[in-house]
Amino acid sequence: MNHLGIRMSLTVAPKPATDKQTTYFQCIAGCSAKHSIYDVVYTCPSCGGMLEVHHDREPLKQRSADQWKQLFDSRASTTTWPYGSGVWGLREWVVPSLADENVVSMFEGNTNLFWAERLGQQLGVPDLWIKLCGNSHTGSFKDLGMTVLVSVVKQMMSQGSSVKAVACASTGDTSAALAAYAAYAGIPAVIFLPAGKVSTAQLIQPVANGAHVLALDTDFDGCMQIVKEVTQDNSIYLANSLNSLRIEGQKTVGIEIVRQFDWEVPDWIIIPVGNLGNVSALYKGFKLMMDLGLITRMPRLVAAQAAKASPFYESFKNGFKQKISVTAQNTLANAIRIGDPVSYDKAVKAIVQTNGIVEQASENELAAAAAHADLTGMFTCPHTGVALAVLTKLINQGVIKSSDKTVVISTAHGLKFTDFKVGYHESSLEEVTSQYPNPAVHLPASADAVKAEIAKRLG
Ligand SMILES: *Cc1c(COP(=O)(O)O)cnc(C)c1O
Repeated sequence: MNHLGIRMSLTVAPKPATDKQTTYFQCIAGCSAKHSIYDVVYTCPSCGGMLEVHHDREPLKQRSADQWKQLFDSRASTTTWPYGSGVWGLREWVVPSLADENVVSMFEGNTNLFWAERLGQQLGVPDLWIKLCGNSHTGSFKDLGMTVLVSVVKQMMSQGSSVKAVACASTGDTSAALAAYAAYAGIPAVIFLPAGKVSTAQLIQPVANGAHVLALDTDFDGCMQIVKEVTQDNSIYLANSLNSLRIEGQKTVGIEIVRQFDWEVPDWIIIPVGNLGNVSALYKGFKLMMDLGLITRMPRLVAAQAAKASPFYESFKNGFKQKISVTAQNTLANAIRIGDPVSYDKAVKAIVQTNGIVEQASENELAAAAAHADLTGMFTCPHTGVALAVLTKLINQGVIKSSDKTVVISTAHGLKFTDFKVGYHESSLEEVTSQYPNPAVHLPASADAVKAEIAKRLG
């Protein structure tokens, strides 16, 4: 049954009329054709540029801003299918025509946005908040995009599409999310990983979820080339963020942050970036809220890069005159080890339109920022370390003021990166001088030895 309750034949693939009219893929460079989101199309057939999911504003304006706020507030964190998901609680803004039975959701989103009281005080920005997107099913914000993409694939397959599997190249978190959602839906997944460049925790997730895991002797950008070739015949559906369906799910983060602040907009949002889908998505969510009158100003977006893989930072320094690509170097922040970011054009718009900033952090800076935050109760992944290091820089430069309300998006769970933590506290990370090492101390099983040690530490 589709959303109107009309049973559809399994052999023909009807285009849901409502989506064709109000939600469709459109070229970001301005080519006029509209494409159904249920068609296998990743880039503009006319110019080869990126597509985005466009939502016509008129049908959405039938509800007032207050009505939207009430509706979204009423759904948040309920168990009613599928609204208990932070993504599907906003379904009218994501994929309005998706049938209930095709939603592939593990109630992702609705992650905690908490006040980083001690860290904020220590850094001199008391209104500091952390959005813990890593508190999610597979441990990163990638779940938000995958629930949308895999749901659309499920609807395509139920309508007789020739798609028989989903695939992605990944620095780790994308593959974990794709493998989990595909397994939940019963759809085969093929995963391309750069051999030896992802953490054990990241590798084992798709393995456990039964995906076909192929480790290739190349880096992420090399895997990306191969997956593009392999998905060319349209029987395997490409799930990388080149596919703009992912952005639709990820854009809910910005909307969720504002809802969690009772519809108040923060001054700054800092996010670690690699392929640039996430910062593009943040902007897209804010733009929609602006257009529909839920908010009246934009936050300033800050894209944080690891200095070892900072093509977007180089482009920003260049006034975005041209896209710069680099060969990404080895970095502790391996999920953002990307030299040729796919969503470059969208991300430039996100930064320009929000008076945003791109900044970078060295290995030493990101490790120190992560370790410092951990001492205030967090357990930060290295990418969150990049964002926190950039926060520190912008405070020191006087750009972020002590009265500003700042949100740092923590993109993954620290437990996926225990090698990074262990290395830090053993002072064995390359290019990092551990300022706050806290290795466990080995003592004989003697009360006297223990008392002496505690006295030494606590005085
Ligand atoms: C994917 C990822 C990023 C970067 O997101 P992009 O959309 O590629 O810019 C940042 N942090 C983590 C943990 C990720 O998995």
